[in-house]
Amino acid sequence: MKFQTRKKVIGISSIIMGIYFFLNILFTPFIEAQIIILGILLVLYCVFIIIMLRCPYCNKHIRSTKYNHCPYCGKDLVDE
Ligand SMILES: [Zn+2]
Repeated sequence: MKFQTRKKVIGISSIIMGIYFFLNILFTPFIEAQIIILGILLVLYCVFIIIMLRCPYCNKHIRSTKYNHCPYCGKDLVDE
């Protein structure tokens, strides 16, 4: 998957996660099971982002979506 597409997927999933958390906190009573489910979701989301934010060339983790070039191998992430 292209890095630009990955950035879009991360953006969309961040919005969905944000809305989901917001609605959950607002409209459901705070019970232990819900906290555990939200915690698991948050961990899965972090793992998902770590997997998605990788350089397609050297496969190293890139900390920000702002990069146009890989900070490790210097390859262009915009025009693959
Ligand atoms: Zn790289």
